[in-house]
Amino acid sequence: MKDLIRAGDRNERVQDVQSRLRALGFEIADETGYFGSDTKEAIRTFQQQRDILVDGIVGRHTWEELVGASWRLGDRTLYMRHPFMRGDDVLTLQRRLNALGFDSGREDGIFGPATVGAVRAFQKEYAIAGDGIYGTLSHSAVTGLRIEREGTSARLREELQKDLAPGLDMAVILIDPGHGGSDPGFIGVRGNREADLCWQLATRVAEQLSTTGARVRFTRTEAEAPDSSERARRANELDGNMLISIHLNSHDESPAEGASTYFFGGSRSGEALAEKIQEELVSLGLRNCRSHARSYAILRETRMPAVLVEPVFISNVDEEKQLEDAEFVQSLAGSIASAVRRYHEESL
Ligand SMILES: [Zn+2]
Repeated sequence: MKDLIRAGDRNERVQDVQSRLRALGFEIADETGYFGSDTKEAIRTFQQQRDILVDGIVGRHTWEELVGASWRLGDRTLYMRHPFMRGDDVLTLQRRLNALGFDSGREDGIFGPATVGAVRAFQKEYAIAGDGIYGTLSHSAVTGLRIEREGTSARLREELQKDLAPGLDMAVILIDPGHGGSDPGFIGVRGNREADLCWQLATRVAEQLSTTGARVRFTRTEAEAPDSSERARRANELDGNMLISIHLNSHDESPAEGASTYFFGGSRSGEALAEKIQEELVSLGLRNCRSHARSYAILRETRMPAVLVEPVFISNVDEEKQLEDAEFVQSLAGSIASAVRRYHEESL
């Protein structure tokens, strides 16, 4: 950030500052986009709350604090990078890890080496891949899975549970990211591998689901490419309430586009789930390529309602390009997660 944002300014950056302040609960009477006395007062109060220099001016530090203040644990995957990720989600994580006895260092909202070490130790204890990345699996473990852990106080247990929105609490959702390991799947003209894009979407779906209380399990790790029967076997062993297999469509005719879902013919529940996912995807504006009965092994050999979803075509260069946009992937994930929620509520 090059310039300061201060009293008297009138531009889009002021508007951005004001909307962030409002999201944090500040009421600002100034005209939108104008840095008046109310905006200044709100910034001063914010600076005071966050223990940073109180000058009523938005410089780099205040700006970073404003951005960081908007993150809630589970909103994004936390990992080690430079500059370090920072925000209130990191702070919440540090508090929880410290409370559970994993030393994550100073509670400063910075995802640095000490916090990564604590995440690794946590993952090790709960037999989650110990990569130090705080994503889906770790999140469901921290927020919901292990609340019955011995030694966790009742108060902490309550606090952990409070964050779980009702809906999918404790439902086990299996996610099967297509391809992987030595099997790249279809490779788009822009060079994207289906396996990688499926993995990204799968982790986003898992994040969305785990923040609503579901217990999410994958049929494979990132580096593996088990065959369909092995995936189905793992799914049956994990005994989930439903399974979502994630692929991308491809076709020789590059203009082909849109969303489709597949279920095992004769499985009413699979069909109902497929239709809900289809509806949600189409509501994003994707072309409706409909739900179809198929006898793929992942659908045929699994014992729970199962759907294979192909939200877009990786062989279509426009759709491939859209998949490079994190927000688009997030909206696909949101659609799939909300269909899963709706299906789960109706099946209770
Ligand atoms: Zn595929």
